Amino acid sequence: MLGSMMDMPLLVSNILRHAARHHGDAEIVSRRVEGDIHRYTYADLFRRAGQLADALTREGVRPGDRVATLAWNGYRHMELYYGVAGMGAVIHTINPRLHPDQIAWIINHAGDVHLAFDLSFLPIAQAIADKCPTVRSWIAMVDADRQPAAAIERLTNYEQFIAGGSTDYQWPEFDENTAMGLCYTSGTTGHPKGALYSHRSTVLHAYGAALPDAMGASARDCILPVVPMFHVNAWGLPFSCPLVGAKMVMPGAQLDGKSLYELFEAEGVTFSAGVPTVWLGLLQHVAQNKLRFSTLQRTVVGGSACPPAMLRTFREDYGVEVIHAWGMTEMSPLGTLCRLQNKHLKQSDEAQSKVLEKQGHAIFGVDMKIVDDENHELPWDGKTFGNLLVRGPWVIREYFKGEGGDPLIPDAQGKGWFPTGDVATIDADGYMQITDRSKDVIKSGGEWISSIDLENLAIAHPAVANAAVIGVPHPKWDERPLLVVVKKPGAEVTREELLKFYEGKVAKWWLPDDVLFVDAIPLGATGKILKTKLREQFQDYKLPQNDGA
Ligand code: ADP
Repeated sequence: MLGSMMDMPLLVSNILRHAARHHGDAEIVSRRVEGDIHRYTYADLFRRAGQLADALTREGVRPGDRVATLAWNGYRHMELYYGVAGMGAVIHTINPRLHPDQIAWIINHAGDVHLAFDLSFLPIAQAIADKCPTVRSWIAMVDADRQPAAAIERLTNYEQFIAGGSTDYQWPEFDENTAMGLCYTSGTTGHPKGALYSHRSTVLHAYGAALPDAMGASARDCILPVVPMFHVNAWGLPFSCPLVGAKMVMPGAQLDGKSLYELFEAEGVTFSAGVPTVWLGLLQHVAQNKLRFSTLQRTVVGGSACPPAMLRTFREDYGVEVIHAWGMTEMSPLGTLCRLQNKHLKQSDEAQSKVLEKQGHAIFGVDMKIVDDENHELPWDGKTFGNLLVRGPWVIREYFKGEGGDPLIPDAQGKGWFPTGDVATIDADGYMQITDRSKDVIKSGGEWISSIDLENLAIAHPAVANAAVIGVPHPKWDERPLLVVVKKPGAEVTREELLKFYEGKVAKWWLPDDVLFVDAIPLGATGKILKTKLREQFQDYKLPQNDGA
């Protein structure tokens, strides 16, 4: 027997309609590439997104067509998210930090029909326009009088483009499984592959992300997503914020510590989200200038492991709660978030910090397990580590255009699980901790050494600004850890002092075999340490004579 409740499809346009009707005056504040601050409301966003959807329809964009963006976090990017997806087309966000050739490859693979870009990315548009025959117009996201004089055929500007659309657009209703968003993985090996999100997966993810033990977003919050809208939908915040009616603050291109701090204070930001490298910059600025946060209550840190030292600084020095989160492009992206439960509240600060260092607990909507290389499930004891597999309604089933074949691993009942490529432990309370990415884990004498653990310890040293650990070939032990360090400006520390700093904190055989000091560690397009680049950089490096024992 079927239930007798209404069948209303889960469409992202309904999130925005809700925000416009029930939180119509909640603000969206954007720092524009032009340098000024722009303010408007969810009601304005709804109207202009509708205008864009109508303009796209008149331009001949059909349901299922891909419309691309190369853009920072800002109100026009929000309009593109909702206008494109809301009319039944697919919003394809491209990471502008990728190499222009790779961007052109992605545009051609996706077959994008229009591309909207912020002025900062005009040089990219100029470099690739000739190589992207499917793109019918290049839309500069500026007012009509600021359209750049550039030699790009079919160049227009955003305001002129949407001017042809009606402000009274009738949003269509269609199957909730319709594709709405496309995001390519960074593709550290081989070509990038696309994750194609549906309306249903995105709306469910927005609900899940907003839950109190996930991000805990509410209409009383003022939320600043530092995490870019060009990478995995800014962790779903462009959908969770309007879903709850939170004020949004969009930082545009200025992601340095000073600019972020000023925006936090000027707009009363209560909640933010970003990768650890961004928070390193912010914390350095705040410490150097002896500043305090007057409104910031919590911040989500994810994308790569949050160093425990950073967690403690936020918590103990500034009273800001850190929510460690883990996920990936293929998971829309949220998988786990780390918040305390009832049983932890009576524990010491030290014990609570230990829990909070983990990547966290699965939200309803994500199931996970760890398995060995033969796909046998491993125990949840917080010690045994294995390959982390996930399944759920916002987890990928297959890549765009079926690239790479069927990625899923079936269980005994034939249900498919997605292999994350991460190695992790899960404890008896269900808290997951990433040991490493399977390709970064250091295999020494048949045992595994976690590069993340060694990096976290190095970053806790007061003279260290950033650190990375890679495995380098060793004749006897296969691989041994090499620590690469960037010192804080003006700080001094020696190789011996750093190695001594590890003593008593890790098993002796985990100690790095050598320490190298560098000016900078290469970061990838999403702000993560590029281990592939580091391994290349040190491919001719020979470890000092040492048996690694
Ligand atoms: P890409 O794979 O394209 O670099 P993703 O953003 O999808 O980009 O990266 C997902 C991966 O990032 C995860 O599989 C995991 O290895 C890593 N990651 C994400 N969050 C964390 C975290 N909190 N701690 C450790 N690793 C993380």
